[in-house]
Amino acid sequence: MSESIVPPEVRPKPQMRKKTMKAGFDFNIMIVGHSGLGKSTLVNTLFKSQVSRWSSGWGSEHKIPKTVEIKAVSHVIEEGGVKMKLTVIDTPGFGDQINNENCWDPISKYINEQYEKFLKEEVNIARKKRIPDTRVHCCLYFISPTGHSLRQLDIEFMKHLSRVVNIIPVIAKSDTMTLDEKNEFKHRVRKELETHGIEYYPQNEFDDDMEDKNENDKIRETMPFAVVGSDKEFQVNGKRVLGRKTAWGVVEVENPNHCEFALLRDFLIRSHLQDLKEVTHNIHYETYRARRLNDNGGLHPISANNTQESNL
Ligand code: GDP
Ligand code: MG
Repeated sequence: MSESIVPPEVRPKPQMRKKTMKAGFDFNIMIVGHSGLGKSTLVNTLFKSQVSRWSSGWGSEHKIPKTVEIKAVSHVIEEGGVKMKLTVIDTPGFGDQINNENCWDPISKYINEQYEKFLKEEVNIARKKRIPDTRVHCCLYFISPTGHSLRQLDIEFMKHLSRVVNIIPVIAKSDTMTLDEKNEFKHRVRKELETHGIEYYPQNEFDDDMEDKNENDKIRETMPFAVVGSDKEFQVNGKRVLGRKTAWGVVEVENPNHCEFALLRDFLIRSHLQDLKEVTHNIHYETYRARRLNDNGGLHPISANNTQESNL
């Protein structure tokens, strides 16, 4: 418990502490991809892992039903008086229909609805002091561990979504691949994403300086993170760990030598949390806001609203 869950850049400065303590902040992760890739399992894994082991209230025995609607699960994590409301938005699998055209519509509709909600609050005369933030700060896109290539649908989907939200591609069920297969597949996926001009997070163009670029280059070279999810615990060397039993033994979900779940979690919730919020607010939300302003012929009071204290 010695390590802080809140990255240094979002830890409150002393004079801000009281305010932040009371207000806390929101962080929202969305999970999308084909049916059966382990999305719902990963939602449980996130909440059961070290992120929230110290917070109470998360039931231990859950049977995961097939996801039929977009569903948000929230959990307040608190440390050192700072509260983070972590929400994970689980979505039904897509790609099962005969005609998958525009199957990203419900997802982008949800994302835009959250922008709209925020915008409405911003232009409201009787503005809340702190606007509840339901905007999607990142969208984990699950790639099937086929070892071949991306599906056309994956490409289309990521292309569409990357214009409205921070996309983070991940390789699902990576315990089904050998280390060599995994590395080769990761390499191939990166090449394909590049070929198709898909801008995933952290986007090159938003690197602030050389230091930022160097750090993010290293991360980009290891993406997409190859994850394993599980909500079952096993006894390993006298410790209870989240894992999956395979013919070779237990794959430990939170062991960085076994898979990249912990890497992904720390990237999202620790090192890049603040940046994900900033890119969402300054780029994706701003794009939405500007478009709405345009649609209104520039006459809407939206244009006068530059004074809103942001929730970053
Ligand atoms: P969803 O349709 O994407 O939400 O997938 P589910 O979470 O419902 O999982 C579908 C099936 O895959 C279940 O039987 C899970 O136990 C299994 N599963 C989930 N994650 C993993 C994983 O990381 N590796 C393996 N091998 N199986 C997994
Ligand atoms: Mg599901």
